[in-house]
Amino acid sequence: MIQAKGYAATSAISPLQPFTFERRDPRADDVVIEILYSGICHSDIHTARSEWGPAHYPCVPGHEIVGRVIAIGKKVKKFKVGDLAGVGCFVDSCGKCGSCKNHEEQFCAKHTVFTYGGTELDGKTPTFGGYSSHITVREKYTLKIKKGVPLERVAPLLCAGITTYSPLKRFKVKKGSRVGVVGLGGLGHMAVKLAKAMGAEVTVFSTSSSKEKDAKKLGAKNFLLSTNLDNFSKVVGKFDLIIDTVSASHDFTPYLNSLRMDGTLVLVGVAPEPNEVQAGSLIRRKQITGSLIGGIKETQEMLDFCARKKVFSDIELISAEQINEAYERTIKGKVKYRFVIDAKTF
Ligand code: NAP
Ligand code: ZN
Ligand code: ZN
Repeated sequence: MIQAKGYAATSAISPLQPFTFERRDPRADDVVIEILYSGICHSDIHTARSEWGPAHYPCVPGHEIVGRVIAIGKKVKKFKVGDLAGVGCFVDSCGKCGSCKNHEEQFCAKHTVFTYGGTELDGKTPTFGGYSSHITVREKYTLKIKKGVPLERVAPLLCAGITTYSPLKRFKVKKGSRVGVVGLGGLGHMAVKLAKAMGAEVTVFSTSSSKEKDAKKLGAKNFLLSTNLDNFSKVVGKFDLIIDTVSASHDFTPYLNSLRMDGTLVLVGVAPEPNEVQAGSLIRRKQITGSLIGGIKETQEMLDFCARKKVFSDIELISAEQINEAYERTIKGKVKYRFVIDAKTF
């Protein structure tokens, strides 16, 4: 067994604390990764605090992982010791169902093994995430990271990047597409960069007037302060696609009104509380849908796209002991734009 050091929550109300545990030795198709960087996603906070229902404790969050391979199983082909590797939101799935065969393992009909807070395919071994020094993962669920990229800025791509890339691709965003992004946090800032890199004209909807300058620097053409409803009158019927990354309950009506006919509002933010949708805001043939991360094949495609286009996350690098403070700042929307933990500090 491999001794791992990390940080865990032990209840919904306790701060995360140092936690020591074991990772399995590599099986024939496993790689063992020494973690270098681990991003803090708002989903970590929702989970650690049981906001989406009771979590399993101890809970070691983290699913934006970049590291270096330090050992491999006998049958591993994709990686050798010393290679860079990434791990995202899941680490295994059945591999046989329609979704798995279709490269959409996040929708596995039997069991998507989420990187933390779930169980392995045996249904009982708990999974622990990336706020830790090491992780052992099947090579098939491990991503290749190209040499020469800024690794701490790549880590957030493993969740924030793929979660926004996937719907942009699904709705065929291209040069001239008009894309709105709601909420300028970890996911939102990646949505802006990726949509811009695909050629779209991007508008940011934000509750924070202080983020206007940043939004434009990140690639947005327009910024709309969403706390003043009068501002929406300028954008009625304008957007092909709006990606909503907000982590709290809010009214979708102004965003639906901002879509063109047959335009789509994609929800990726997962507020713990219910939202209301009025039929009247949909009947002009507006569509509302959701999106959940992306499969391994598409995640690799996104990482390669980002390396090619030099699209990386804007981050604040922190040490492990700053995790709890980082959670509080993330909840207040005061992060520019992703906290990433330096794994040397576990
Ligand atoms: P984040 O960094 O905290 O960003 C969320 C942003 O939403 C904030 O920066 C803020 O932007 C805005 N916001 C927060 N509270 C708000 C409120 N009460 N009203 C309006 N706007 C508000 O979070 P994140 O890591 O990007 O994650 C965002 C959401 O996506 C979370 O719910 C997370 O669980 C979910 N998520 C989903 C997937 C998926 O696969 N679907 C994957 C990852 C994360 P402004 O200051 O600009 O208003
Ligand atoms: Zn995430
Ligand atoms: Zn499956």
